[in-house]
Amino acid sequence: MHLGRCLCSEIEYVVEGQPRDVINCHCEFCQRATGSAYLVETIFEQENFRLQQGKPKIYRYTSAGSGKNIRIHFCAECGTKTHMTFDRFPTIVGVYSGTFDEKDWFERKRENTLHFFLSTAPKGTVLPTGFKIYDAHFWQSEGVAAKPNVFDAHTLVTDELRAESRQRLDDLKS
Ligand SMILES: [Zn+2]
Ligand SMILES: [Zn+2]
Repeated sequence: MHLGRCLCSEIEYVVEGQPRDVINCHCEFCQRATGSAYLVETIFEQENFRLQQGKPKIYRYTSAGSGKNIRIHFCAECGTKTHMTFDRFPTIVGVYSGTFDEKDWFERKRENTLHFFLSTAPKGTVLPTGFKIYDAHFWQSEGVAAKPNVFDAHTLVTDELRAESRQRLDDLKS
């Protein structure tokens, strides 16, 4: 069992077990919502996530990609986002992992850790060797898994690398 909380400790949650996936998301939604370069999102099944204290406010955002609602749960007092729930994936919870009390408790291995949205990652972002790096997210389209990039050395995001990533996405559309 691992605890997380917002900045003012009004909202407190617990999770059970390791996250199903760890997603480092470089999309524009996560950049803006976190005010940061990217989100480290740990994914849990609903039954492994429990609010222990407080009642978060919910901000509903319509995903540009799917047209479905994403619910951002946040503390009305201090503004910290603690987790997300999704109309598209109703059985899971995505945790804003900077809110865990213990930052390194979960595994961040190649087997469970994905990078999403190379196509919008800021210049200078480091993409680690051997990890799955997606141009957008995991699903290329409904039910079709996208093909990840895997780099054989740690790689910095450059204008060029990002342009190639966007080109691959455009090519899929045409
Ligand atoms: Zn708070
Ligand atoms: Zn994102």
